[in-house]
Amino acid sequence: MTVVLEPPLTRSGTWSPPDMPLPVPLLTGPRFVRGPRSSRWHRPRSGTVCAERVTYLLWCGQRSHRSEEGFATAEELPRGAALCGTCDGRAVGAGQDTWSIEGGPELLFTPNRLIPPARCPGSRTEWCTLLAWNVGTCLICGVTTPLRSSGGPYNSRWGMTNHPPGPALVPGCPFHAWRELELKDGHVRCGCGRPGTTQNDPEQPCTPTDVSGSSRTGADGG
Ligand SMILES: [Zn+2]
Ligand SMILES: [Zn+2]
Ligand SMILES: [Zn+2]
Repeated sequence: MTVVLEPPLTRSGTWSPPDMPLPVPLLTGPRFVRGPRSSRWHRPRSGTVCAERVTYLLWCGQRSHRSEEGFATAEELPRGAALCGTCDGRAVGAGQDTWSIEGGPELLFTPNRLIPPARCPGSRTEWCTLLAWNVGTCLICGVTTPLRSSGGPYNSRWGMTNHPPGPALVPGCPFHAWRELELKDGHVRCGCGRPGTTQNDPEQPCTPTDVSGSSRTGADGG
């Protein structure tokens, strides 16, 4: 059994490589597809063929290429198979198909969470308390590391070596995690003005502090 695919509507403009034929939409496709590096099965939303190369756009927004080694399709999933929850919910919601497995598949969806980065954001910065001319304690995570120059001759910088975050890592901002940290008045905090706060901790409400002169909060709109 195959499913009827949606038209591959896009808002990304009409440009395509001049030396390639125009892609042709596929009208039907397999119920389930799985790429070689995928941890779960997905459902195709639309598909195109271009120069004999078949590409599926999945309901979750990813793409899958039929020509990739290890690409697989399935019409039925074995019980217990892991399936993309976004794909199954959208495909069923849009009326393309019924739920994949009677009795319920094991749905998987992995939202972004406040998981500390593998490399401390203080790596290669001077955000530290100097203990000696070339040793410092990281203001973000409390680890003591040597300071070195890094980068090439045209882009060299002086700072702590790359290091995994220590146990004293400042809590991540609930909106920007550890990506937007900045040093202000000797303290590390998120660029949005929030001090670090842990998820679901009512003792530390995530209220902006010292936002005077800052226009970086609430500017996102709808
Ligand atoms: Zn998916
Ligand atoms: Zn650190
Ligand atoms: Zn923030």
